[in-house]
Amino acid sequence: MKTLENYINGQWERSNSTQQIPIYNPANQEITAQVPYGPDTVKDVHKAIEHAHKAYLEWKDVPAMRRVQPLFKMKTLLEDHKEEIAKLITSECGKTYAESLGELQRAIENIEVACGTYVLNQSEFSENIAPGIDEFMIRQPLGVCACITPFNFPGMIPFWFLPYAIATGNAFILKPSEKVPTAMQYIFELIDKNLDLPKGLLSLVHGGKDSVDALLQHPDVKAISFVGSTQVARYIYSEGAKYGKRVQAQGGAKNPIVIMPDADIDMTTKIITDSVYGCAGQRCLAASIIITVGDNKNIKDSLVEAAKSRKVGYGLEKDIEMGPVISKESKSRIESLIQKGVAEGANILVDGTNKNVSGFENGNFLYPTILENVPLNKEIISTEIFGPVMTLLNFKSMEDSIQFINSGRYGNMACIFTQDGLSARQFRSQAMAGNIGVNVGVAAPVAQFPFSGWKDSFFGDLHAQGRHGIEFYTQTKVVIERWPKTWSRTF
Ligand code: NAD
Repeated sequence: MKTLENYINGQWERSNSTQQIPIYNPANQEITAQVPYGPDTVKDVHKAIEHAHKAYLEWKDVPAMRRVQPLFKMKTLLEDHKEEIAKLITSECGKTYAESLGELQRAIENIEVACGTYVLNQSEFSENIAPGIDEFMIRQPLGVCACITPFNFPGMIPFWFLPYAIATGNAFILKPSEKVPTAMQYIFELIDKNLDLPKGLLSLVHGGKDSVDALLQHPDVKAISFVGSTQVARYIYSEGAKYGKRVQAQGGAKNPIVIMPDADIDMTTKIITDSVYGCAGQRCLAASIIITVGDNKNIKDSLVEAAKSRKVGYGLEKDIEMGPVISKESKSRIESLIQKGVAEGANILVDGTNKNVSGFENGNFLYPTILENVPLNKEIISTEIFGPVMTLLNFKSMEDSIQFINSGRYGNMACIFTQDGLSARQFRSQAMAGNIGVNVGVAAPVAQFPFSGWKDSFFGDLHAQGRHGIEFYTQTKVVIERWPKTWSRTF
């Protein structure tokens, strides 16, 4: 049984912890490796921080143009090895091979944007704010920055942060999800073999809550980026603040899509079905509440048909459109939420429970499920299910739909499907969510835009990606400079 090692001070080493937990392939529940876990991982984290701090002291003075050079190579590495990495992602996380390739493309795009950091991070300068006095602002790195990531995008989410952190002159420590650590392990092996980075600049440490708490509490860690459930995001934000850190913490979601009566049925069905069931519904931007406005017979029939015909199976097999959910626990949690919804009065239009995939009977498979007429005050309306479940609601008007959306606790995404520009304009202005889609089912910002969650979907102010990333990983310094002796000639 392979036990994953940590990457500290530019080398691979065994964890101080003798406790390990298994990593499963969710399609068949086979154990593929094991990962260090438990209280002794704190020693690993402390060691990584010590070396990261030394690397930062060297790296911060490297000219900005030179700091981005390794990122060009990193991009090529990911491009050259994307097939192997995508296979690893599918086998540890369950999504289809095409979805794994898709997330890697998003990772690569973030590296590309961060390659322009030396331009995006340029200073502001005001000459002569008073006679003989100039004022300017520079951005300097923070020090050691850490990132804690969730299970659902093992190859992409670390790259929402890593390239920006090092391009701006920081050292970076990644603590990946203990459920899916192998893709980043492989990427770090590639980095180790191919990039000439100062030892300790990039570190990979494993573990769960103990490692995270060690990162939160250590005085040399200056910033924490987190992506995961709202409950943990809130904890990270408040603990980080307690220990004086800069924090960006992205949380969970419950994403609505409104379908107006004029929406194109075929296009809307295809895009919404991909949004709800893509990655088996385990995307923070997966649509889960579908709101039809007015008469909904045709669109409802079409959504039911599409749900029933989705091809479920092992993500590495050809033509598979949806893989398993991450774990046995996750599967039973989703099933019990479906049962609860039915007990609370929902009508089950499509039932995806109690079905197997031939040859993968031990896998954590669920098929698409559609619930309708769920009472608005019930748990299933407000709880993030994080599985392939659509909750279908019907409202009289777009305004009623917006009012319902705005009453929810999350604000990661809201979308509308319509052919009417005015409705779309009103929706994008009034819906209280940070990522809006118009005839788009997964409104995932590309790398140059911030990933803008609102409400309980985000804690902090500067988001991941693009300029926000650069601002998050730098602190401003304003310099006011007086040169009292002025020149004698004017031109
Ligand atoms: P999770 O919160 O269980 O775990 C995320 C990370 O936090 C892991 O690395 C884990 O080791 C660590 N962790 C777990 N419990 C902890 C604790 N008590 N104290 C400290 N650290 C802890 O999330 P998950 O199940 O891996 O991921 C799914 C969640 O992530 C969903 O809610 C999803 O919506 C959310 N998500 C959000 C975004 C976004 O951009 N907003 C993106 C992807 C996923």
